[in-house]
Amino acid sequence: NRVKIKTLLTGDALTGSEVIVMGWVRNFRNNQFIDLNDGSTNQNIQVVVALDLLDDATRKRITTGASMRVKGAVVPSLGKGQKVEVKASSVEILGDSDAEKYPLQPKKHSLEFLREIAHLRFRTNTFGAVFRIRHSLAFAIHQFFNEKGFIYLHTPIITASDAEGAGEMFRVTTLPTDNPPRNEDGSINYKEDFFGKSTNLTVSGQLEGELGAMAFSEIYTFGPTFRAENSNTTRHLAEFWMIEPEMAFYDLEDNMNLAESFIRHIIKYVVEHNYDDLEFLDRRLAEEEKQLPQDKRSEMGLLQKLEFVLNNDFERITYTEAIDILLASPAYKKKKFQYEVKWGVDMQSEHERYLVEKHFKKPVIVTNYPKDIKSFYMRLNDDGQTVAAMDILAPGIGEIVGGSQREERLDKLEERMEQMHIPAEEMSWYLDTRRFGTVPHAGFGLGFERIVLFVTGMTNIRDVIPFARTPKNCEF
Ligand code: ATP
Ligand code: MG
Ligand code: MG
Ligand code: MG
Repeated sequence: NRVKIKTLLTGDALTGSEVIVMGWVRNFRNNQFIDLNDGSTNQNIQVVVALDLLDDATRKRITTGASMRVKGAVVPSLGKGQKVEVKASSVEILGDSDAEKYPLQPKKHSLEFLREIAHLRFRTNTFGAVFRIRHSLAFAIHQFFNEKGFIYLHTPIITASDAEGAGEMFRVTTLPTDNPPRNEDGSINYKEDFFGKSTNLTVSGQLEGELGAMAFSEIYTFGPTFRAENSNTTRHLAEFWMIEPEMAFYDLEDNMNLAESFIRHIIKYVVEHNYDDLEFLDRRLAEEEKQLPQDKRSEMGLLQKLEFVLNNDFERITYTEAIDILLASPAYKKKKFQYEVKWGVDMQSEHERYLVEKHFKKPVIVTNYPKDIKSFYMRLNDDGQTVAAMDILAPGIGEIVGGSQREERLDKLEERMEQMHIPAEEMSWYLDTRRFGTVPHAGFGLGFERIVLFVTGMTNIRDVIPFARTPKNCEF
């Protein structure tokens, strides 16, 4: 009869029964009330320890951070905000926690501080909420695609293709063995190290995903991707997770529609299953915003923002329209943008955020980007200048999705590859999809941490992945 605290706190079914609960002490009050948490929910169960139940020595060991097993009866609670509590008949301390040394005290800690003790931050309310929501999003993603009949295709982590993301790739090397590959001068040749071949950690599973789509019609990948982002922005990690659906017989319009209903589905799932966690984060955020000057505060609370996304279509504009809006904006005229705004130049986060936060006040899908700032596989439009690309931009973040209709015409694709100096011989496996039974197809990549950022209202991407990998963050 071991129960999780979440089960205890939802419904009255257990009232009157004997249970065992296990968890970590958050707080011990008045020498008789323990707030116990097991991570299943943000709420603690109140354990009431009668004054004659424990000797003084044991009682002293009930400190914040200590772990314990409690046996007791579930009884209605007189305390505020809780229906039930556990009246302990036995308390067994499993692991002591030195109150002087334990970094987490029963008070609010700053996110900066918690990042310093990243190995313990899971035990706080904020990160408890964030990572339960992250879990739910992952589940909802598989549910969405499974219900639509997509095949979950595992694409490789180690890849030999470097057509995408040159300069952003981590190279795979092995530790020197007895006989490592050598350069002419005798030094170890790390360039060709995967059994004599040059390989990288994947920056995207898309090209391999296309092979799957050309057989299963609709597939998705969901796995880790790696980019040597040597910058310290709040939206880039060196290791992040990406969801990449790829669909045969889809055009750009179908692609946008799928992406929009996908995002709504996973948000809806979290609103339905993690409401208490969202409420907690909403409150925390509101408190933090109170410290900001009026014009820096968001117009909507977290839950309001999610409801809004569930009930309103995303704005759809072309890249050309986006640039025109930016050029005509007060922000541009007052020289508030740090980076250049010009047709043919990629938008930066500040521009993307201006469009969603100030201009449209809703998520925006930008389509038809200039071909020169996008990848070789995107389908060339009839104007010969733009490609059938789409980026989805979200408030607080900017780009969360990058996608496109793919170039299915072999001659056009080969022409483009030649212009971009991508060796066609090495990509023969990819071109075979166009040689044999090519079809219009499309797909997109959603950065998992970026949607977790959006849904939790957190502002730094390091705070929504359990173990952040950034240039300054690789302790364990
Ligand atoms: P950005 O403009 O933010 O650098 P990108 O255009 O380089 O992103 P894509 O190649 O389009 O990114 O990758 C698809 C998606 O993967 C992006 O829309 C984003 O959500 C996510 N993503 C890309 N790079 C990172 C990163 N370093 N950390 C976390 N997520 C990322
Ligand atoms: Mg990038
Ligand atoms: Mg981009
Ligand atoms: Mg992109």
